[in-house]
Amino acid sequence: MENKLRLQIVSPYGLIFEDDVDEFAASGSEGDFGVLPGHAPFLTGLKIGMLSYKKGNETGYVFINRGFAEIVPDKAVVLADSAEKAEDIDVERAKAAMKRAEERLKKAEEIDFARAESSLERATIRTQIAEKRTMR
Ligand code: ATP
Repeated sequence: MENKLRLQIVSPYGLIFEDDVDEFAASGSEGDFGVLPGHAPFLTGLKIGMLSYKKGNETGYVFINRGFAEIVPDKAVVLADSAEKAEDIDVERAKAAMKRAEERLKKAEEIDFARAESSLERATIRTQIAEKRTMR
């Protein structure tokens, strides 16, 4: 489709999102990046973060829990460890995960810091994205 980009977001839990969008932006391991249709091919790692896309007047937000993005001129495939559209984020679950991670980090003994910090980061960003939902 002219001036559109097929965006597909897949996780081990299934197909999370697929649509033709005008543009999208995400948190790459080397920094934030934006993609328009016709972009030169590239491959990048993805951090825990937010992917946002525009389709007409609509802006959508998707939580991405690390992964990779492969971009070719008319298509982008995101492979994430887990991902949810803003409207699918369970805020209570994210808050509970945040609390668990914070309590583990406070104890500061015999815990896997990297794991607790990642969990806290996921929960924090899920909560922020859930507040956005889809804007039309
Ligand atoms: P939790 O500690 O609550 O399980 P987590 O960050 O460890 O969170 P993940 O391993 O990232 O969870 O994801 C496991 C599955 O649960 C995935 O399908 C993911 O999309 C889903 N998931 C995790 N947290 C949420 C949430 N707050 N809202 C909706 N789905 C979620």
